[in-house]
Amino acid sequence: MKFIRLVEYFERLEETTKRLEMFDILSELFREASAKDIDKIIYLSQGQLLPPFYGLEIGMSEKLLIRAISDATNTPTQKVKDSFKHSGDLGKTAEGLVKGRGQNLTAEKVYEEIMNIARTSGAGSVEKKIGFLSNLLRGVSSKEAKYIARFVIGRLRLGIGDPTVLEALALAQGDRALRPELERAYNLCSDLGLVAKALLEKGMEGVRKFSVRVGYPIRMALCERLPSSEEIIAKIGKAAIEAKYDGFRVQCHKDGDKVDLFSRNLERTTHMFPEIREATKDSFLAKRAIFEGEALAYNEATGELFPFQITIQRKRKHGIEELAKEYPLKFFAFELLYVDGMDYTEKPYLERRKKLVSLIKKNPIIEPAEMFITDDPKKIYKYFEEAIERGLEGVVAKRLDAPYAAGGRNFNWIKLKRSYRGELADTIDVCIVGYFRGKGARARFGVGALLGAVYDEEADTFRTVSKVGSGFKEDEFIELKKILDDIAIQHKHPRVDSVIEADVWVEPRYVVTVTADEITRSPSHTAGRDREDIGYALRFPRAVGFLRQDKKPEDANTVKEVIEMFEIQKKVKVQ
Ligand code: ATP
Repeated sequence: MKFIRLVEYFERLEETTKRLEMFDILSELFREASAKDIDKIIYLSQGQLLPPFYGLEIGMSEKLLIRAISDATNTPTQKVKDSFKHSGDLGKTAEGLVKGRGQNLTAEKVYEEIMNIARTSGAGSVEKKIGFLSNLLRGVSSKEAKYIARFVIGRLRLGIGDPTVLEALALAQGDRALRPELERAYNLCSDLGLVAKALLEKGMEGVRKFSVRVGYPIRMALCERLPSSEEIIAKIGKAAIEAKYDGFRVQCHKDGDKVDLFSRNLERTTHMFPEIREATKDSFLAKRAIFEGEALAYNEATGELFPFQITIQRKRKHGIEELAKEYPLKFFAFELLYVDGMDYTEKPYLERRKKLVSLIKKNPIIEPAEMFITDDPKKIYKYFEEAIERGLEGVVAKRLDAPYAAGGRNFNWIKLKRSYRGELADTIDVCIVGYFRGKGARARFGVGALLGAVYDEEADTFRTVSKVGSGFKEDEFIELKKILDDIAIQHKHPRVDSVIEADVWVEPRYVVTVTADEITRSPSHTAGRDREDIGYALRFPRAVGFLRQDKKPEDANTVKEVIEMFEIQKKVKVQ
């Protein structure tokens, strides 16, 4: 496909305010793609060169892009900067300055050129990157330049999430009912380009043949929630009760001496945990394996586990070795997904657990998560209380005969957490879909409150649940404004459902964790709206921490979960 053709689709996607229209445009695009370029077309539309787990960065800043535009168009950098100041969008600036008619490049060629830029590293790479990009800009038309410029600095702003692509792929095949099978393949490899390529090359047969592979993160299984141990046993019977550790979820892929680690959000976190890498090489008794667990900082002297705020410090680029000395880690393994040619995801929990334990040679880092089996709610409750006292988050009950539900949240795993007086038992992760400028003192920061939405999986839509105006510090408000203005869009995103008008709409991209006193019914929000147009809302919401780096928009809590939490709240006695 010609890149200009793809750009025409981008323009149409950018203009639409309707969700269904968005699906139609995308599926039309996918129908036009070939087996050779479908993967690249999907990546480009999602504003990335490869799925995030590859950890590939283009390494282009606004500053470098300005220089590339200046070089390509023989315009003094100051003039480019002035134009940017005026437009606020380097895409528009590039569009205005690039005057050529273009060389009719294919999307594949443009993709390869940008890939070249990303792969250039080491001494002198900055100049080389600028050279590659200005060369590319010289060969394209102004419209193409607009989207290339936005793409290379991560501002494509189309907001096309993975579920949207899956839906559109199924539609492009002329059968929405194919989506679950496409989704299954995607859950096992987390790479939509790979799935789409298999589909176009080998048809649904190719898609059905997908199984887990070392090096490709498996989309992680998630927990449902219930309010009491009695209800857990009533729901799943005799269960495995594990400690719920409050740290970092890690999926560990071992391939001989090569070990890769992935986060809950399927980002590569290998560099964050050198000790898990080493321990896996030395003490995990398999050549090739995929297993999962929770990494936590702990106090070597007392054996005490540290809170999440300490563990999260690992999320940095430098100084990991020092941090590892100051706050050593434990890795509590709780799942086995693959061992030496055998896919374990389909096997029942008990078999997975038994094998997992047998593969861990005694070592100071990796140990199996605490676990016991019972059908006695009192025993669960006692263990739960002890766990809370030891600083754990609660417990997770697991159904003994259940497979590993990749990418799924269901009652195979059920979490039990503490509820406090006047506070929801669980925090809620909302996706930011817009913001309000704020009045009075707040107006100073430019952001007074965020418009938060939860995710409706079936409709692939974000429905509002709360205005969040507290919990952030002053400097955080200032930073929020900067970050959100970068993803501001002219109109409500087609995947957003809201009756409230935000002052500024943004692409659904960032998630923030919110705590609240309770969930109430409300006509102002669209999450869970019934026939009388009454939805659900959070009462006294306040943000906890800053933006969640580890969650994608679709990882926000769902409408279904909010309704469940509302039901649980009605049942739980305030303690
Ligand atoms: P999500 O379910 O979307 O991850 P969340 O981030 O709020 O939501 P919770 O639902 O509260 O997390 O808990 C699930 C997380 O608990 C898992 O992702 C995992 O990181 C952690 N966890 C800790 N101990 C266990 C365990 N024994 N088994 C499974 N998960 C565990």
